[in-house]
This record gives sequence, structure tokens and C-alpha cells, in this order.
Amino acid sequence: MKDAIRVDADTVRVPPARLRLAEALESQKDRLLPCVHCGFCLPACPTYNRLGDEADSPRGRLHLMGAVVEGRLDPASDAFQTHIDRCLGCRACEPVCPSGVEYGVLLEAARETAVEARKPGILSRLLLTIMASPALRGPFFFGGRVLRATGLADLAVRLLPSRGLMGSGRMAMAMLAATKSWIPPVASDSAAGPGEDSDHPGHRGTVGILLGCVQQGLYDRVNKATARTLEANGYRVVEVRGQGCCGALHAHAGSLQGARDLARSNMDAFESAGVDFVVSNAAGCGAAMKDYHVLFETDASRAPAAAAFSERVRDVTELLAEAGPLPGAEVKCAVAYDHPCHLLHAQGVARPPIQVLEAVPGVEVRVVEGAEECCGGAGIYGLTHPELGGSIGRDKVAAVTRAGATVACSANPGCMMQIGAGLRLDGASQPIIHPVELLDESYKRAGIYK
Ligand code: SF4
Ligand code: SF4
Repeated sequence: MKDAIRVDADTVRVPPARLRLAEALESQKDRLLPCVHCGFCLPACPTYNRLGDEADSPRGRLHLMGAVVEGRLDPASDAFQTHIDRCLGCRACEPVCPSGVEYGVLLEAARETAVEARKPGILSRLLLTIMASPALRGPFFFGGRVLRATGLADLAVRLLPSRGLMGSGRMAMAMLAATKSWIPPVASDSAAGPGEDSDHPGHRGTVGILLGCVQQGLYDRVNKATARTLEANGYRVVEVRGQGCCGALHAHAGSLQGARDLARSNMDAFESAGVDFVVSNAAGCGAAMKDYHVLFETDASRAPAAAAFSERVRDVTELLAEAGPLPGAEVKCAVAYDHPCHLLHAQGVARPPIQVLEAVPGVEVRVVEGAEECCGGAGIYGLTHPELGGSIGRDKVAAVTRAGATVACSANPGCMMQIGAGLRLDGASQPIIHPVELLDESYKRAGIYK
């Protein structure tokens, strides 16, 4: 293990222009102060556990951030760029920190500082542009669905080599192939889904569902299952026009301004819809929206609305668990459940997804060994860091396989794609599903939907 972090070697006379680039981090410097360098967070960190380098630990990264804020380290230096980039953003370091260091907020500021000092790669910039634009997102995901439906994605997984640039392409195709439905659509799929205001009395409140970008593009069935199961449990689901991407990918990639622009549109859209709850079925999106208040904390004109919006955000499993949820018919299977980091660590939601699964008669829930550790998905980390992301992903897939279940399950599209791809590349046949899909199937079999 390399214990000492060597900022000195990178300590140069930092040009004033570069120091100005550190403004995002400078504005968060008070959030660095609570760190007492105790190191309790180190064993929770997947990158530190695998690389054994203090600079790849939460404490080491906080140290690098502090050095940039104090002008001792150039934000364009390899030390800052490499170790900040290598962080998964899984936030496993937050709940174990006795001082309550808000690592996620600091990481986003550090990423903004890093990308201002050195432009990010073309893949990252291209994806952010596509996700922010509905006009580009539509054709992008349509192409993905065509590759999935025609079996070309499966074919590419079989034909492409596993290393180099082609290896990243093979991984991307495996992720796409993993988004296939676990069960053929049945007639009740035509029941009310998001976008069709129901006349349901909704005694538990009115909800608007964030449709998301990846979720809407590749997992529309999860959005529909979300609407149906919420309605069956006493919520009224209404359409929210004008909503878009939540901005999580932008914030994690260092484009806080891009994230703010998207957040503004979403806040306006959900406000106009007059909902009691803003519901997400993607852990990353839910975590981002619960943090909108941080995005606007220095904007006096938006801060109160952002705080009120964040208060209303719920993961779908939180609302369903609060309602019971209503049991349906038997679906006999064993489910290997893996916690998404942005549900467990960022939102502190551990039991609700399991309660949703346990509400289905015949289901045996097996929480995956090491379920609290990241799967290596982390946005496009598996593509941009094939070796480290691949090693973290292989450990996760091995744990899912050891659970010996019929289906794998997680509550975030990125994790579903990463674990599903790993299972495919391993030759395993388990599908991976979202918890609401199983509850939805149980309700269909019980004839709960009219
Ligand atoms: S982030 Fe928290 S747990 Fe980690 S070294 Fe700092 S105070 Fe300790
Ligand atoms: S967010 Fe995850 S990878 Fe990054 S420092 Fe924290 S525990 Fe490590």
C-alpha cells in the first residue's frame, strides 16, 4: 500500500489563470474543513481497495482538492486529473464518515475544476450533448433499440474482441443487449402508463414520474410498471410535460452549468404539473434531484424553489413501501438484489426495494454479498476505464452469480446495464430487472389492473 500522497512533486508555481479555474472548488472549500483525515472511509472505497494508492482514496482525493484550493497544485496536473477522474462517484465514503464530509458535492466541484483546466474526452462530451437534447436523444436510443431488437447487439458481443477500443465497443453492445425485457409483454401492458393522466382518486397523493433519458430510451417498460404499481397502491399519476434529463451525468462529468440548466427545466415542469411527489425509478436521477437544492444554494432567486423541489423527490420504492405495498399473485423465483450506490449511499434508501420484492408471493430475496460496493458502472466508467471498471464489475458479477438466483435485480438503469452486461459476457443466462417489474408482473397475474 502506498500511504503517503505526494503533492510536493506537483507543487509548482501555479499560473494565476489556472487558479481562477479552481473557482468551483474554491466556492466549496468550507465543505473540505470537516475532514479530520481519520481514514475511516478508506476501506469503503472500491478504487483504494483495488489500487492501494492513498491518492485513489477519498481522503487522498480530498487532500488533492485542498491543495488545488490553496494554490499548491495545478488543477491541470496529472495528479489532480488522474485521481479525480478515477473516482467512481459511488459515495460509499459518505455514510462511513464520522465527520459528515459531503464528498459527492465536493467531487462535482472538483470535476468542474478538472474539466475547465483540461477538456474531457470526445466520448464524454458527445454523450452529454446527446442526453441534454431531446432531438438527439430520440434517434440515439432508437438506434439502440434497433440494435437490440434485431439481435445485432448480441452478434457484436460474440464477434468483437475483448480488448482495446473494440473491447469497449463489445462492452457497450453487451450493456445494450442486457436491457432486453425479462418477460414477453402481455396484454395488460396497455394499461395506463406515464403520460396518460388517470382519473384515479389518488388518496396517497399526486405524483409525476421523471421519465429520464436512458430509462425512457431503453427501459420504458420500467416507467410503465412504475406508473401502474403506484396507481394500484393509491397514488394518482399525472403527465409532466416539458421534463427532460435530470442533469446527473452532467454534474458527475463536471458540467455543473449544464446540470443547472436541465434542473431549471425540470423544476418548472413539475411545478406546473402540481404534484405532491416527484418520483424517480433510477437511483442516479433520484439522488441528483434530491441534491438540486445544493446546485442552487448560491442563487437566491432559485434556492427556495430548489429546496422545496428536493423535499418532494422520492424513489418509487419509497412510496410503494410506504403503501404496503399491496400484494399480488405468486411469481415463483429467487432474486439476487444488488444495492445501487446512489440509492443506498447517496439517498440512504436500503430497505424499500427489498420490501417491494418481498411483497411478491413466491419471491425469495437474496441480497448479493458485498451489495454495498459499486458495480463499476458509474455512468460510462466501464467504457472509459475498462481495466479498473472491468475488475470492479467482474467482482460484482461473481457475487451475483454466487447468489444462485433465477433473476438479478437492481434499481438503477446504469447498474442493470453494467451487471447485465457482465452476466452476458460471462455466458450466464439470468436476466436483470428493476424491483417494480416484478411487482408489476405479480399484479398482472392477480388481475389487479383493469
Ligand atoms: S472523509 Fe471522513 S472518514 Fe474520510 S478521512 Fe475525512 S473525516 Fe475521515
Ligand atoms: S466516491 Fe467511491 S470511488 Fe470515489 S472516493 Fe468515495 S468511495 Fe472512493
